[in-house]
Amino acid sequence: MKLKTSLKNIKGIGEKTFINFKNIGLETAEDILYYFPNRYEDFSTIKNIEELKGDEEVTIKATVSKIYTKNLFRKGISITKALVSDNTGSIEVTWFNQKYIEKTLKKGGVFFFAGKTSTYQNKLQFVNPNFEEYKEEGGVKGKIIPVYSETKGINSKKINKIIKSIIKNTSLDEWLPEETIKENKLWEINKSIKAIHSPKNIKDAKKAEKRFSFEKLFLINIKNLYKKEKLKKEKTFKINKDEEYIKELIKTLPFSLTKSQNKVLKEIINDLNKDYPMNRFLQGDVGSGKTIVVFLASMLAAKEGFQVAFMVPTEILAKQHYESFKEMFNFYEDWLSLLTSSYSKTYYGNGVESSYGKNRLLNEINSGKTKIVIGTHALIQKKVDFKNLGFVIIDEQHRFGIKQRKKLLEKGKDKKRPHSLNLSATPIPRTLNLTMFGNLDISLIKEMPADRKQIKTRLVSPDKRIEAYKFIKRHVKLGRQVFVICPRIGYEDIDNKWDEIKTVKDEYEKLKNKIFPDLEISILHGKMPSIQKEDVMKNFKDHKSDILVSTSVIEVGIDMPNANIMMIEGADRFGLAQIHQFRGRVGRGKHQSFCLLFTDSSSEKSIERLKSIEKATDGFELAEKDLEIRGPGEFLGSKQSGLPDIVMKSLKNEKLVKNTYNSAKKIIKNDPNLNSHKKLKNKIKRLTAKKD
Ligand code: ADP
Ligand code: MG
Repeated sequence: MKLKTSLKNIKGIGEKTFINFKNIGLETAEDILYYFPNRYEDFSTIKNIEELKGDEEVTIKATVSKIYTKNLFRKGISITKALVSDNTGSIEVTWFNQKYIEKTLKKGGVFFFAGKTSTYQNKLQFVNPNFEEYKEEGGVKGKIIPVYSETKGINSKKINKIIKSIIKNTSLDEWLPEETIKENKLWEINKSIKAIHSPKNIKDAKKAEKRFSFEKLFLINIKNLYKKEKLKKEKTFKINKDEEYIKELIKTLPFSLTKSQNKVLKEIINDLNKDYPMNRFLQGDVGSGKTIVVFLASMLAAKEGFQVAFMVPTEILAKQHYESFKEMFNFYEDWLSLLTSSYSKTYYGNGVESSYGKNRLLNEINSGKTKIVIGTHALIQKKVDFKNLGFVIIDEQHRFGIKQRKKLLEKGKDKKRPHSLNLSATPIPRTLNLTMFGNLDISLIKEMPADRKQIKTRLVSPDKRIEAYKFIKRHVKLGRQVFVICPRIGYEDIDNKWDEIKTVKDEYEKLKNKIFPDLEISILHGKMPSIQKEDVMKNFKDHKSDILVSTSVIEVGIDMPNANIMMIEGADRFGLAQIHQFRGRVGRGKHQSFCLLFTDSSSEKSIERLKSIEKATDGFELAEKDLEIRGPGEFLGSKQSGLPDIVMKSLKNEKLVKNTYNSAKKIIKNDPNLNSHKKLKNKIKRLTAKKD
C-alpha cells in the first residue's frame, strides 16, 4: 500500500465511509495516519461521580437510569436528558439537538461518558459528553484507548482499526533533519505514528505527540524563515536616514516620545534605510502612540521624495488620522491626501485644503504630487496608481485579508515591493509572535505616555447593578457618554440555549424602555451592514446618542474623548486582553474614566480572573495570561484557527515553541535554500501547493 492510496481502495472502507471521511478532509492513507486521537481513555483514571467538580475533563462509568427528550418548539430545539449513576452517586447528563441519543442510550445500559463538567444554577451537570458502551473486554485495566473526534457514521473504534491496518502495510519517510531529531530528542516518524495511535502507556503517547507538535511548528517556522530570507534578496529603495530632520520634527511635538516609541521609531527608520523591503509588525495598546510614530516615519519618507500609503479599515478612522496629521504637522509642506468612498481631498500645508473630484485626486497620486495618502480599501482599487510609492502602512492589519494587503504592496514604484509596516492594537503573546508572525520583524510599544490617567476598573457585584445605573445616569447628565458591551448579538447566537448570556438586542431594549427612557440609546453589532455601522459610530462620536450598546465590534482606534464609562456585561466571556482593549476606548479625554465589569458567573476562577484586571495595566502581560487560560484561538481569529488542534495546544508551550524556532533557524541559516535538505524542501512545496 502506498501513502497516496485513496481511502476508497482500502479494505473495510465502503462508499459511505469513504464519503464521510472525505467530508472531514481525509482522502488518502497518509491523511488518516495524521488524524490523531483527541485524547486517550486511560481506564485507570475513571472518576467516581461523587468526586466530580465543575469545569474539568473527566471520564465516568455509569448506568443509565432515566432518559427522555423534550422538544422546546418555541426555541426550536430538543433537549435529551439522562440520569446516570455509579456506586457513589448520580449526575444529570444533557444533550442538545441530538434526539437519536435517546435510542442509543438504553435504560439500564452501562456506558463511559467523557467530557467536561460544568455547573448550572449551583447544580453539577454534564453537557454534550461523548459516550461509549461499556463492554467487558473493553474495560481491561491499564489499557489505553485512543478517542478520535467522531464523525457521522464512523466511530472511534472503527477509525482506530482502519489506521492500525494501514500502519501494518505502509511506512513513512523521515523528513525531519537528523540533527534536528537528535538535538530535540524526538522519536522517529514511524515509531511516533505507531505510538500515537496505539500507545502502550500515556508516557509513550506523550512522546509521540511531542514529535508531531514539533514537526508541525517546525514546518511553520521553516516556511516563515524561508520567506524572510527570500525577501532579503528582493531589492527596493533605500530611504535616507536623516536623523537630524526627525529630531527637528520631534521638537515640534507638544510632548516627548516614550522610550518605547523612540526605540520603535529607530527600528523603522533603520529598516527604511535598507535596500530590501521592510516587513515589520508594530504592536501596542490603543493610545500607546503608534500613529505618531508612523507619522514621523512617513514625513521622512515624503521628504526623501517617496510616496506613502496609509491604509485603515474604516472611513472614520481614515478621517481621524488625516485630521490629526493636519493638526500635528500644520507646517508640513508636502501634500497630504484623504481617499475613501466619500472623501477625496488634499491638504497643501499651512492650513490650505481643498476637496475635489475623485479623478483629480487620482491624477495627483499618479503624478506623484501628493506624498502621503491616507485611505480605506479605496487605496487598492485598480484606478489608484502611485508614481513612486516607497512606504506602505496598514493599520489594524488583521482587518484586511492577505489579498488586500498584497494588492497594496503591488503598487510600489517600478513594481518593486515597498517597505511595509503593519499595525495592531492587539497585544500578542510571545509564542504566537515567534510562530504565527515569524516572517515579520516585530516592534513592541510596551508603555503608555506618562500623562495618562488610570482608568478605574471595578468588578461590580450583581446586587450593585441599580447603583451602577445611577452612576451612569449621573455622568450622562454631566454630558458624558457610555459604552455597554455584551457578548452576543441576539438570542439566535447562543449555542447552549440554557446559558443566560446578555445580548445586545435585549440590553438595548431594556435600557431604552426601562432603565433610561429619557436618554438617547443606540445599538451596534457585527450583523449590521458596514455603512450602517459607520453611521452609528459617527453619530456617537458626534454625541447624537448618550449610550452605545454594542458587541465587540466597536472600532479599536476611534477617539471618543467624551466617553468615560465602559460597562461590560458577561465579562467572564471575554479574554482579559480583549477587556483591556475595550477599556482602552475610554480614558482618552480629560475626564476620569471608569470600566465596570459585570458577570453572572459564580465560578471562583472567573471571579479571580476578572479581579486580576482591576489592577493590571499591561496588555502584553494580560495576553500571556489569556493564552494560558483560553488558548491561542483568542488571538488568531476564526479564520486562522483552522490550525490543527495539536498546533493550537503547542502554542501554549513556550519551551517547545522556542526550541522549534531555534532548530528551524539553524537549518535556514546554514542552508537558506534548503538545497541539502531535499526532503524538507519537498514537504514544504507539497504543503504550499495543497493550500493554494
Ligand atoms: P495609537 O495609535 O497607538 O492608538 P495614538 O498615536 O493615536 O495611539 O496616540 C494616542 C494619543 O496620545 C494621541 O492624542 C497622541 O497625540 C498622544 N500621544 C502619543 N504619544 C504621546 C506621548 N509620548 N506623550 C503624550 N501623548 C502622546
Ligand atoms: Mg491608532
